[in-house]
Amino acid sequence: MIKVLRLGHRAGRDDRISTHVGLTARQWGADQIVYSGEKDSNMLESLGDTVDRWGGETDIIYTENWKEQVREFEGLKIHLTMYGLRIDEEQENLQEQIEKNEDLMIIVGAEKVPRWIYENVDYNISVGNQPHSEIAALSVFMDRFLEIKEDFKDAEIEVEPSEDKKKTESLKDRQ
Ligand code: SAM
Repeated sequence: MIKVLRLGHRAGRDDRISTHVGLTARQWGADQIVYSGEKDSNMLESLGDTVDRWGGETDIIYTENWKEQVREFEGLKIHLTMYGLRIDEEQENLQEQIEKNEDLMIIVGAEKVPRWIYENVDYNISVGNQPHSEIAALSVFMDRFLEIKEDFKDAEIEVEPSEDKKKTESLKDRQ
C-alpha cells in the first residue's frame, strides 16, 4: 500500500500544486492521498472528479490530524525535504527498505514542515539540496522506486498514445 501525505495545504494558494501532488501520486500508483492543512472541499472535489473520469481506485481523504496519520502508519515513512540525506547516496538502502516493507508513506510539505515530522519518519530524503517543489520531489522519488501505473479501473476516458496527435477513447459505453 502506497500512501502520500501532503502537509500544510493552503486553500486558494496551493490548489494547483496540491491537485498536482495528488495526480502525480496517482500516476505512480498511490493507493491513498491524504491532505492536511486547511480543509479545501473544492480542491478535493475537483481532484475526485478527475479520478472518477480517468479511473482507478485512489482514495483521497482529508485529515486535521496528520500526526496520527504518521504515528499509526506501520510501514516505511519517508519525508521528502531539501534538508534530507541525498537520494543518490541512499538509493540502494532505500530500494532495500522499500522491498522489505509492504507499506510505504511518502510525505511532502508546503511551507514550513514541523520539526516533529523530521523526527518521526524513517528517512528524510532530499532530491538535491536546493529548494524546488513537492511535485518535482515526489515524481523523482516515485519514479526511482516505483512504477508508472498504466491500468486505471473503471476509467471513462483513456489516452491512445500517439506520435503526432491528441487521441483519446471514451470507455463509457464499455462500462
Ligand atoms: N524549505 C522547504 C523544504 O523543507 O524542503 C521547501 C518548501 S517547498 C515549497 C515544499 C515541499 O517541497 C517541501 O516540504 C518538500 O516536501 C518538497 N521539496 C522541495 N525541495 C525539495 C528537495 N530539494 N528535495 C526534496 N523535497 C523537496
